[in-house]
Amino acid sequence: MSEYILNVINQVKEKNAGEAQFIQAVDEVLGSIAPVVLKHEEEYKRLGLLERIVEPERVISFRVPWVDDNGQTRVNRGFRVQFNGSIGPYKGGLRFHPTVNQSIMKFLAFEQIFKNALTGFPIGGGKGGSDFDPKGKSDNEIMRFCQSFMTELQKHIGQDVDVPAGDIGVGAREIGYLFGQYRRIKNDFEAGVLTGKGLVYGGSLARKEATGYGLVYFMQEMLCANGLSMQNKTVTISGSGNVAIYACEKAQACGAKVVAMSDSNGCVYDLNGINLDIVKEIKEVKRGRIREYVNYVPEAVYMENNAPTPAVYTIKADVVLPCATENDINLETAKILVANGLIALGEGANMPTNKEAIEYFLEHGVLFAPAKAANAGGVAVSALEMSQNSMRYSWTFEEVDKKLERIMANIFAAAKNAAEEYGLGTNYLAGANIAAFRKIADAMIAQGVI
Ligand code: NDP
Repeated sequence: MSEYILNVINQVKEKNAGEAQFIQAVDEVLGSIAPVVLKHEEEYKRLGLLERIVEPERVISFRVPWVDDNGQTRVNRGFRVQFNGSIGPYKGGLRFHPTVNQSIMKFLAFEQIFKNALTGFPIGGGKGGSDFDPKGKSDNEIMRFCQSFMTELQKHIGQDVDVPAGDIGVGAREIGYLFGQYRRIKNDFEAGVLTGKGLVYGGSLARKEATGYGLVYFMQEMLCANGLSMQNKTVTISGSGNVAIYACEKAQACGAKVVAMSDSNGCVYDLNGINLDIVKEIKEVKRGRIREYVNYVPEAVYMENNAPTPAVYTIKADVVLPCATENDINLETAKILVANGLIALGEGANMPTNKEAIEYFLEHGVLFAPAKAANAGGVAVSALEMSQNSMRYSWTFEEVDKKLERIMANIFAAAKNAAEEYGLGTNYLAGANIAAFRKIADAMIAQGVI
């Protein structure tokens, strides 16, 4: 490892004490780009390139007051991190979840820089959200919260400035309320200011499916490059939200058998293969819990999370797709998965696997599809949504889906080629980080010290 990288990582630890997730993300990226940095060390040092790349261009934090259904005023904290705009307007989702804090926002925005660079579109890296918990809130409470959140956020975004989208807790309903408030304040139908919009007011076909479908397209490329396929594989998926549902749909379409899905309480295990229509009914229509699945399919089993390893990861699977949240898989869990015969793991969520677990997978020959490459399909189709908004035109589902498939194949090729160029074998994590970093570094160097 280069001394320059170690110094920068140490500086990040000192300057961002207490921001564990952000430090973890920086450590993972910088640790894996050492071969490139070593080649250009003197230049990068002189230009302070790594010091600049780990410092957000802007971190915005704001008060979000709103009134609940009982007339009680509540206050949440809102964030927008505009991390790096060197290749395009900041772009990244909004997360509404009680765990949201500055560290999580910065880690997600930092990851987003590299992910967005891999898509091939001109979009910079950003992320935002709030510690607001949408669970158990009425529709009116959600609307009032979104309106208050946007009243502040609108000062900082725009279709050529910063373009938010959804993430955990922010789906089509929330994007609708956010867009409505933006339009009201600006008196301007600026369709490209948010992505993930409803189809009737500027959304793109296949955006809802994009992250999950893209993940499986990436997995197919990775498996195929190693003489394998999704056909007849037993798959488990953590989560049962947007990414998980459409990863399941595409995996099933590719001939895989998905036997388990989860939420933060536990998982359902259906040996006959998950019935996705039921999951969609529970999650997309009723906004219920995954345990309700067994009310529809009595042969299925519900397994509550009551051990350090989430129940979904104790089930035997060839392919695992973590699609819930960060740091879901640690070394202990990785050992269980490998002992159960894991062949490949594809990160649908952001940073679901910690560093020790990744190292364990790579040492044990598990094919590992890293989040910033494998889940880039969502933001890629968001970029296609922006293109359609600019053209005032929309493509068919098949047209967008075809483009998505090609984009994911290109992303895999970029990660694979970079890994091969630097003699890293099938370490697609390092390959993806290197391919993305080179692009960002070139743009930053070209634009001078800013
Ligand atoms: P959703 O809100 O639609 O679903 C989230 C799912 O993850 C739910 O099943 C939720 O269960 C579960 N979950 C959330 N927090 C935890 C937790 N702490 N422990 C266990 N399970 C948890 O979100 P998305 O599907 O949109 O996002 C899932 C992941 O994918 C996130 O990491 C996100 O950053 C990433 N991602 C999303 C993209 C998108 O286009 N939506 C694009 C790229 C990445 P519960 O209901 O119990 O909370």
